[in-house]
Amino acid sequence: MTRIGFVGLGNMGLPMALNLRKAGFAVRGHDLVAAARERAEAAGLETVEELDRAVADAEMVITMLPAGPQVREVYLADGGVLDNAPRGAVLIDCSTIDVETARAVHAAARARGLAMLDAPVSGGVAGAEAASLTFMVGGEAEVFARAEPVLRKMGKAVIHAGAAGTGQAAKICNNMMLGIQMISVCEAFLLAEKLGLAADKLFEISSRSSGQCWSLTSYCPVPGPVPAAPSNRDYRPGFTAAMMLKDLRLAQETAAAVGAATPLGAEACQLYALFAAAGKEGLDFSAIIKMIAGRL
Ligand code: NAD
Repeated sequence: MTRIGFVGLGNMGLPMALNLRKAGFAVRGHDLVAAARERAEAAGLETVEELDRAVADAEMVITMLPAGPQVREVYLADGGVLDNAPRGAVLIDCSTIDVETARAVHAAARARGLAMLDAPVSGGVAGAEAASLTFMVGGEAEVFARAEPVLRKMGKAVIHAGAAGTGQAAKICNNMMLGIQMISVCEAFLLAEKLGLAADKLFEISSRSSGQCWSLTSYCPVPGPVPAAPSNRDYRPGFTAAMMLKDLRLAQETAAAVGAATPLGAEACQLYALFAAAGKEGLDFSAIIKMIAGRL
């Protein structure tokens, strides 16, 4: 039985850890916050208050943390994962963070003789609960091969993207497409409204035409056409505008660092920043249609 230390038992981490336990792994969870540990214990997961106890005898360490600074802290600080993980362990960071941090932590792990992957996910809390996440994984092929059977217990697709950092690169590129596409779908529905074209008709036509995309057919920002979309429940998330803004900012920082032109990514980032500044960052990211309509 593989022993797994799972660090970060939040909205995503807890259901992921529970799926690993259900699959028969010996999972020991840790979170900085007592309330998160209590929630995990109540759901049947063994937890420990100290990071080192979650990691010390683990064959695999999985982290699901808010952002780059927490990942640096958990892995690199004195008494962190790199100080405590046994030789031979595989370390997998599933958080969404900047490529530079992912590569720096990977290099530090390698310098200690530890194997590491960046493996951010797509699919949100519903995907974490249903074990249907998509994992985009950066790191050495032989380490990927060891991790894949475990990641498969939490996801429907586990894809090796390339060298260290390319998992994060894939996540950032994907979510930049998503943010831009969501805004484009919002603009089209609002233009249609002014032109007297019914929303359900635009949906029927565009979902079978070249404007088709996930933001339209799986996550329509207008209530009605896609019953499961957050637009039908007052834009309760789903995937918050705050999370989208975080990912678009990561894309902009990365684009600047490598000199890539991403003009629509930049515009999308600014629009989500305005939406957040209006106090709406807790709504689903499809709620940006309200701001574009001037109906905040
Ligand atoms: P969350 O805030 O619910 O969970 C993060 C957990 O990490 C919290 O419980 C927090 O207490 C814990 N934590 C913070 N610092 C810590 C430390 N130093 N040591 C131990 N625990 C610590 O966030 P989430 O929604 O679970 O997201 C986690 C990651 O997954 C983020 O990087 C996010 O961008 C990414 N993600 C989230 C979604 C989503 O829909 N929520 C979808 C895809 C990717």
